[in-house]
Amino acid sequence: MTQTIAHQACCADAESHSLTVPQALAQIMTTVPVIQSTEKLALRNSLGRVLAQEITSPIQVSAYNNSSMDGYAIHSQALDKTVKTLRVIGTAWAGRPFEGVVQVDECTRIMTGAVIPEGTDTVIMQEHVEATADSMKFNTAEHQAGQNVRFAGEDLQIGQVVLQPGRVILPPDLGLLASLGIDEVRVKRRLRVAFFSSGDELRSIGEILQQGQIYDSNRYSLYGMLARLNLDIIDMGLIPDVPEQLQQALLEAADNADVLITSGGVSVGEADFIKEILQQVGEVNFWRIAMKPGHPVAFGKVKNMTFFGLPGNPVSLMVTFYQIVQPALRQMQGQLNDPTQFRVMKARCVSKLKKKKGRAEFQRGILAQDAQGEWTVQSSGSQGSHILRSMTESNCFIWLNAEQTTIEQGEWVEVQPFAGLM
Ligand code: AMP
Ligand code: MG
Repeated sequence: MTQTIAHQACCADAESHSLTVPQALAQIMTTVPVIQSTEKLALRNSLGRVLAQEITSPIQVSAYNNSSMDGYAIHSQALDKTVKTLRVIGTAWAGRPFEGVVQVDECTRIMTGAVIPEGTDTVIMQEHVEATADSMKFNTAEHQAGQNVRFAGEDLQIGQVVLQPGRVILPPDLGLLASLGIDEVRVKRRLRVAFFSSGDELRSIGEILQQGQIYDSNRYSLYGMLARLNLDIIDMGLIPDVPEQLQQALLEAADNADVLITSGGVSVGEADFIKEILQQVGEVNFWRIAMKPGHPVAFGKVKNMTFFGLPGNPVSLMVTFYQIVQPALRQMQGQLNDPTQFRVMKARCVSKLKKKKGRAEFQRGILAQDAQGEWTVQSSGSQGSHILRSMTESNCFIWLNAEQTTIEQGEWVEVQPFAGLM
């Protein structure tokens, strides 16, 4: 009984009060499901996908003792702190080992990657010897036993874990897997993400605008943001503000997609309209998130599909996508960590930034290095949530938390570079 009351209180609360950005994120991250199905892909096709298996090394790396330099393979007993001349009895090539046993007063030429010949254990760089056609002379005191040799199993032992599930496969991973002879990997299936725009004032590009109409730009920025995430994109177009059509679009999306993202129609005044439809077909909360821009956000479920209703203003859409939706999509894809995701860094703010206490702000800024190499950030100017140009001209978000007030010139701030984020 008590629990039921507490639960109701929590949900009523979530609808009427503002949530902080971390609260909204925490609630989303604990709610969204992670994709379970997987598929096997040829190595190259796995680039950017999320690994769904643990990869262990089927071989030892290096496979054999080999040289890390071009030079001469000798026996370490020859290193008796004198100047010495050794007889060169052949060459060990990469891929073509020297056949035979090398004695203490002998050596072979050896190339990088070549098997260390039997009887030798040390490599002298060719720059450190005086060579003739069949001998080489060097100062033994300058060298150590075992130098310039890569030992078998030094990098990886058989069975050693090289990549963990949840890893986003990056270029060096392709190379690493290839170096182990692995030609196929199991990855998570792609997340299917549908989206549409709604708003009676919107027209598609290619159409002629009448007075009071604007082009639907959100579908294009959304497409761009989604295309970077290596998922299946379902563009459902422009849906007019007609209840039956919106409801039909929602149900159609729920049959075909894991996630639906809509833009527009979640602010006060419009919310009740969409709210009614969403509550008929699913469970959706309308949140006021204490963030600027972008506070009205709807989040919930229609059947098994996760739903994000983002604000219509073009900058608000992008900010809420990057701060709220993108982390959720990454988690749903099964990503544990993405090493390309560069979160935040500190920079000295060279502009005065106006801000009131109470809401987190994601202002747009231009990050640069000054003559001393110090990172500085400058405001990109007018911060209106409809001014998409402010996103195009910027290269970072300036993160200002709810408690912060106006930032004076010269103060340090946290910035999130677009590089890595976009
Ligand atoms: P709304 O969230 O529907 O109240 O819309 C807020 C503002 O964003 C209004 O000025 C809308 O015209 C604009 N807007 C909504 N959807 C889009 C869109 N898809 N493309 C460009 N602007 C939009
Ligand atoms: Mg609207």
